[in-house]
This record gives sequence, C-alpha cells and structure tokens, in this order.
Amino acid sequence: LQDIHERKMASLELEKSLKSLEDYKFSLDQAAIIAFTDSKGVITSVNDNFCKISKYKENEIIGKTHQLINSGYHPKEFFIDLWTTIASGKVWRGEIRNRAKDGLYYWVDTTIVPFLDEKNKPFQYLAIRFDITTRKNAEQEKSDLQATLENSLNEIYIFDSKTFLFSYVNKGALINIGYSFHEMLDLTPLDIKPDFTLAAFNEIIAPVVNDEKEKIVFFTNHQRKDGSMYPVEVHLQLIKEGGNSRFLAVILDITERKKAEGIVLEANERFEKVTEATNDAIWDWDIVNQTFYRSKAIEKFFGEDTSKSLDEKDFWKDSFHPEDLETIKSSVNDAINDPTTNRWELEYRLFNAEGDTHFVIDRGIIIRNDQGKAIRMVGAMTDVTQQKRMELTLKNLNSELEQYTVQLEHSNEELEQFAFVASHDLQEPLRMISSFMDLLKRKYSDQLDDKAKKYIHFAMDGANRMKQIILDLLDYSKAGKLKEDLVAIDLNQTLEDYAILRRRIINEKKALLIYDNLLTVNAYKAPLTQTVHCLLDNAIKYSKEGVQPKIEIITSENEHEWIVQIKDNGIGIDKHFYDKIFVIFQRLHNKDKYEGTGIGLSIAKKNVESINGRIWVESILNEGSTFYFSIKKN
Ligand code: ADP
Repeated sequence: LQDIHERKMASLELEKSLKSLEDYKFSLDQAAIIAFTDSKGVITSVNDNFCKISKYKENEIIGKTHQLINSGYHPKEFFIDLWTTIASGKVWRGEIRNRAKDGLYYWVDTTIVPFLDEKNKPFQYLAIRFDITTRKNAEQEKSDLQATLENSLNEIYIFDSKTFLFSYVNKGALINIGYSFHEMLDLTPLDIKPDFTLAAFNEIIAPVVNDEKEKIVFFTNHQRKDGSMYPVEVHLQLIKEGGNSRFLAVILDITERKKAEGIVLEANERFEKVTEATNDAIWDWDIVNQTFYRSKAIEKFFGEDTSKSLDEKDFWKDSFHPEDLETIKSSVNDAINDPTTNRWELEYRLFNAEGDTHFVIDRGIIIRNDQGKAIRMVGAMTDVTQQKRMELTLKNLNSELEQYTVQLEHSNEELEQFAFVASHDLQEPLRMISSFMDLLKRKYSDQLDDKAKKYIHFAMDGANRMKQIILDLLDYSKAGKLKEDLVAIDLNQTLEDYAILRRRIINEKKALLIYDNLLTVNAYKAPLTQTVHCLLDNAIKYSKEGVQPKIEIITSENEHEWIVQIKDNGIGIDKHFYDKIFVIFQRLHNKDKYEGTGIGLSIAKKNVESINGRIWVESILNEGSTFYFSIKKN
C-alpha cells in the first residue's frame, strides 16, 4: 500500500486548476479577438472572433501582418512605440482603430503579450483584442457634438434655472457678445437682454418652467459689451438632470433677416404707393391658392364697396358686361393653358356703380413654374372709355370730312367745268365786241369826235383785259391735271430754257439770273416748268425801279423732298399778305403800276399741291422776297 493521498490531492488540485484554466481560456476565446504572430509580426493563428470582426477568412489572414487591418488612422509614431515596447519584452496596451475587409472601421482595446525564450527575447506575440467600437463611436459623437456646439455661429448659452447664472457659453456667443467666458460667469441673460425686466422675463419663460411647453421661441435684442444692440431669435428649453435643471438657449442673430424683411417691406410699400398713384386697377391672382387681390383703384371700375381680396369663385360676380363675360373667361383660360403664352390682353366692357358701360383694356403677365404650369398672374385694368368715346367721335368726324371732301371735289369739278365752259363761251361774244369796236373805229373814224374815240379805246381795253382774264381762267382750270409721266428734270436746263424764252424782258430789265449746279428732280414737267416760270416772271416784274434785278435760284434736298428757292431783290411783300397772294385774282397793286390778273401764284399753288408739294414765301418789304416750293420725292 502506498500513500498517494498527497499526490492524488495535488493531481486533483492540478486538474481543477487546469479545468478553470480551460474555462478561462474558453471564456476568453468567446469574448476576445485573438491572434498569434511570430517574432516578425507575421500572423500564425487567429480565433473565430478575429475572422468575424475583420470579415477575412482564416486563410486570408495567416501569413500576413497586421498591416492587413491597418486603418491608416494612427500616426507612424504610434506603431513605433508599440513595437519598441513589445520587442523589449514588455506588454503593450492601447486602443486601435482597424479596418475590416468590407472597409468598415472597428475599434479594439488591444493587449499584446510577448512570449520570451531563455535569452528573454520574444519568439512570438499574443494579441488579445476586445471590440470597443460602440463606446468609441459614442465618445466620438459626443466630442463631435461638443465641437459643433462650440464652433456654431449661433450663440448657445446654458444658465441655471434658479440663479440664471451662465454655466456654458459657446465660442460663437462670446465672439458676438464681446465678453470673455470668465466675464460671462458673473452675468445672467437679463444683463444681455436689456429689453426685459425680471418680471417680464419670468413671464415669457413661464410656459417651459411650468412644463406647458417643451420649447419657446421669442424675439428680442442682445446688447454687446460695447453697448451696441442686434436683433435675435431665442430658442429656449429647460434641461432637467437629476435634481437640478438648467436652461439651454440657442440664439440666432437675425440682423440680416431683418434687413431683408425691411427691403421686402419697402418694396411692398412702394408697390402699394404705385397702385395708389395710377388710375389703373392692379390685380394679382394666385392661381394655386385661388385667391385674388386688387388695388384700391378697382373701386373706380365697379364702385366703392368692391372687395379687394377675394376667392377666385367670387371673381365673376362683378358686373362684367354679359355679352363679354364668356369671351373674357375663355380668353383667360386659353392664355393660362397654353404654356408658351406669358402675356394676356383683352378689351371688354363692364358696368360701373351707376350702371354706365365702361370700356377697359386688361393686360396680364402669366408666371409659370418649371413645368410651364401657370401659378400666378399679375396685371392691370385700364379704363379706356374716354378714348373709346373720342375714337368714336373722331370716326364720325372723319366720315363727315370724307363726305365733305367728296362734295368739295364735286363742286370743284363743277367749278372747273364752269370756268372752262364760261371762258370758252365768253371768248366768242368778246371777240364780237372787239371786232365791232374795231370796225366802228375804222369805218366811222371821221364822224367820231375825240371823246367818242376815247370811249371806244376804253371799251377795247376792257375787252382785251377781259380776254386775258378768260385765258388765265382757262389756264387755271387746266392747272394741276397730271396727264404725263414722271421724268427726271435737270433744273439747270429749265433755267436755260427760261432765259431763251424771256430773252427780251431779261435784256430790257438787265435782269441777272444766278444759279449753279442745280439738282435734277423727278417730277411732272408741265406743272414744274409753269411754276418756275411764274416765280421767275414775278421776280423780274416786281423788281425795284432803278435797281438791277438779281435773282438767285438755289436747290436743296432732304430725305423726303427737293426744295427750290427763288430769291429776288425786288419790292418785297408785307408779311400780312403772305397767304393772300396765293388766292386767285388777289393782287397787291393796281394794273397801271404792274400788269397782271392776280392768277399766276394761284396756278403755281395748284400745280405744286397737285404733286403733294408746298409753296410759301418769306420776304422783307423793300429788300426782296424768297419763294420756296417743294417736290415730294416719292
Ligand atoms: P399777278 O402777278 O398777275 O398780279 P400773281 O398771283 O403772280 O399775280 O401775284 C399776286 C401778287 O403777289 C402780285 O400782284 C404781287 O403783288 C405779289 N407778288 C408776286 N410775286 C412777287 C414778288 N416776287 N415780289 C413782290 N410781290 C410779288
């Protein structure tokens, strides 16, 4: 018999401790991520957890280094420190961010244990990792949030719910308000919100204090350390933590918003003023919300109690003219439904408060969304009743005038016919008077005394003058009748022809015709020649006694017409008679001084006007006259 009690106990003890080591190893294996590497860091074995978290298969890992799961997050120095520690045989512990095969990152709490040989040199390493990703992410989130709050351009304050003393003020707030954080610690919100008394502030925060509201928003002003103020929007919330509660206030600086609001307000006011200033009724139709706004001027159209803001369905209740109503509706509809139309205009009738018909022109601009759908229409109604009435009167007047012109043309024609017939028919009896007077003078000359002969002379002179008048009248009745074609007429040639034709009188009076390089015009030859001759004849005839007649002829042109001017140095015309001289038989002198019947200029006028030209005179008495006439180019 051998006493093995001691040994048995020891072996049982060993078994027990081996068992608990197994258990420990098992539970470690369950939770930890384990890898063995050789002395160079090449992975020799891993457990399932390593594969699970890194998403690599075991055979993809074995033989590689930890470079495989390097995330690039840690600096080089970090790994140098790690390696120097474990290579010197010490345990290294730290937090590492790794990268899984799918690219996702995970954090591990890592302990690396070196296994030493007899010379105390590591021959392998055991890396035990625990997944701390969740904690790390939470930490990261928190610090991100803190950084965001800190760097937010909005002002963020936390202050005590009882003492109101600030405990947190972010950087944005400090920059805006101008105090240092330490100065802020002695202040309360009331110090930077001078608009509020304590009572008023308590009242405004009451809903969050009494748990009626989670959050309140209000507007006030903040005062900087330097005394200047700026408008703010305050978002206030109560945070309860254990026993104590604090306020969190987020503040937006609304200076820019206020400015923009100011601009909009101003623009709106301006718009209102414009709508007041104009007689037009301005309207604004919100097609999406089916509402209609009209400026005050709409009262001038439909009467004083016309509504300015109304729903679309009430719109057609105003007193549009029943005959126009359907046209208006369909015209507006067509415009709105055609995506290419952006403007609308229609003239229609309506009844005003007194029931009178008014004419309006309604114009609108259609505003469309990206899909081309009409969303809004803005326009103006103009009352054109007055114009309409005037148009109508003008139309009536015009047709009267047309009738009158027709009548005038008739009587003119009749008059011309009469002049023609009369002058023709009068010539015969006149010739009889002249020839019998002549016979009387010749055959009974010896029986007649001087008185009788003088009477006969008067009678013959009268008959001759009458003959001249009749011939002139005949000319006048023929003038202005355009029988030929338009031709190019060189006015230099016209002047040369005139000088030959009137050689005798020109020589007699030593008249000087001055002209150079006259224009060639496109005109009817007969009336033009007749007019030029008449004006030149007069220029020579009405010269001053004892003064050499100098007659200057000048031509000029503009876009629409040629202008001929004939300037003399004659007796001149009083400006009272500028019009009179162009009237038939109107003369300024008696026949003894200057011969003539007073018909020349009236024929000239008739000729010029028959080709749509003008004739006029400018003159200085005793110095000379300038006659002008124009020839239309087309
Ligand atoms: P008449 O020469 O036969 O009298 P006109 O019709 O040619 O008739 O002229 C009307 C009047 O205009 C003339 O009587 C004359 O008094 C005036 N008159 C015309 N041409 C001139 C001129 N160049 N200078 C001054 N008076 C003129």
